[in-house]
Amino acid sequence: MPEQIGFVGLGIMGRPMVRNLMKAGYSVTVYDIVADAVEELASEGATPATSSDEVASKTDTIITMLPDSADSERAILGEGGVLAGSKKGSIIIDMSSIAPSMSQKIFQECASEGVEMLDAPVSGGEPGAINATLAIMVGGKQEIFDKCYDLLSVMGSNVVLTGDIGAGNITKLANQIIVAANIEALSEAMVLAQKAGVDPERVFNAIRGGLAGSTVMEAKAPMMLDRNFKAGFRIRLHQKDLRNVLQTAQELNVPLPVTALLQQMLGSLVNDGEQDLDHSAILHFLEKLAHVEVKKGS
Ligand code: NAD
Repeated sequence: MPEQIGFVGLGIMGRPMVRNLMKAGYSVTVYDIVADAVEELASEGATPATSSDEVASKTDTIITMLPDSADSERAILGEGGVLAGSKKGSIIIDMSSIAPSMSQKIFQECASEGVEMLDAPVSGGEPGAINATLAIMVGGKQEIFDKCYDLLSVMGSNVVLTGDIGAGNITKLANQIIVAANIEALSEAMVLAQKAGVDPERVFNAIRGGLAGSTVMEAKAPMMLDRNFKAGFRIRLHQKDLRNVLQTAQELNVPLPVTALLQQMLGSLVNDGEQDLDHSAILHFLEKLAHVEVKKGS
């Protein structure tokens, strides 16, 4: 009998993660507030549910993959939420990228009901979710991590316990600073080349193998050159992550001047209606300042 897994949150990331679980032989019960997403996966073999507590009542391990802190709080702790349907000893794995302090709050409430919890946000984007190559950064108890390791390994290729509950999301915030700063630097470089009349595609090909080369460059430069800004990872989600970075940094009295600047840029793009574009559209912010459009073959 295959292991029963619950999954709540069937967006860009959740859908391919569920597919990989089913491919590995898990029986997955799914729920999302968007009915189409539930129906799509039900047509592929998942068991549909009509609420988060129904998912939890039918399974012992429940994964959540939701946009932000308030969504995880609502879907897990709220009325009709995962915790309400969970049995003692069940494990909730919140794979959403949320504020570490919210992971700790959810953990405490789960603990008071005898329910275990890990925070396990991911990096690697939609391609990583599809190819099961996500980096999964986990916070929680060692023994619960050990129990969930095989399950998490179905969705990712690098599964690491970085500390107690909340440590997964601290690690994710560190990751998001680096990714945003890299995309911004890449955008500045592309805009400079374009304005100088040097083909940005040739610049990319010349430098990708050197010290400036990076996973971010490999993923985002082709999108910029093709002017394909379809998410991927939405601007509004990166804005949310940097907000969580800055809030956490403030609580710890850690100045993060570049991250604060990046957050201003993302805010400006949201004002321009670009919140649902991929974060490679940070390029637009720099293009507007320089009055230039990056194009390959120019
Ligand atoms: P998404 O917006 O595509 O999907 C979120 C899903 O959650 C949606 O289908 C939404 O309807 C559902 N949802 C919201 N509230 C709900 C509730 N109360 N109950 C049930 N379902 C609910 O987002 P995504 O891109 O899949 O990202 C999910 C998380 O993963 C975010 O925290 C994001 O920051 C993180 N993440 C995303 C990427 C990426 O490239 N997209 C990469 C790494 C991490």
